[in-house]
Amino acid sequence: MFLACLDLEGVLVPEIWIGVAERTGINALRATTREIPDYDVLMRQRLRILDEHGIGISEFQDVIGEMRPLEGAVEFLAWLKDRFQVIILSDTFYEFAAPLMRQLGQPTLFCHKLSIDGSGRIADYHLRQPDQKREAVKAFHQLNFKVVAAGDSYNDTTMLAEADRGILFRPPQNVIDEFPQFPVTREYDELRAAFTQALAVLGE
Ligand SMILES: [Mg+2]
Repeated sequence: MFLACLDLEGVLVPEIWIGVAERTGINALRATTREIPDYDVLMRQRLRILDEHGIGISEFQDVIGEMRPLEGAVEFLAWLKDRFQVIILSDTFYEFAAPLMRQLGQPTLFCHKLSIDGSGRIADYHLRQPDQKREAVKAFHQLNFKVVAAGDSYNDTTMLAEADRGILFRPPQNVIDEFPQFPVTREYDELRAAFTQALAVLGE
């Protein structure tokens, strides 16, 4: 019994905050956990910037609605779903991901949640639980699933380590250098091959 756990941003869709920064021209929204390692500090800053520019959830979703999955992502996901039950483990928010999930055919998504007030302002955010990607894989193990996981960045590495097989997809060089134990893939063909190999190694 196998599950495939996939990160969302950087694996199937572009980085949402970067996309919003580009489309709104608000450069301050480009900051990521690389510049501001404390996620809470980063999110408070992002929400403050949205407030300053009067950007609420509907404007945000309009911008995200113009974003498209990465080239080849829809086909890759269809291929993967033929072979695994697929669960997407993401540190985004349901309210942001919705337009993109429709384009991906509504795969199962476990992520975080926003509080939206009556005027559509994004008032707050709520993590489902700390280190949720890793905790999800641990829970799947308790349910007797074997897990093959793929992600692109730091916030995936505990998930990849917890999984029976962890695969990096288009990671930045610092992640490659710090986590040499994970195979690196750059194209979906390579990612398909890595999942196929994982099945062969772990036993069908
Ligand atoms: Mg990612």
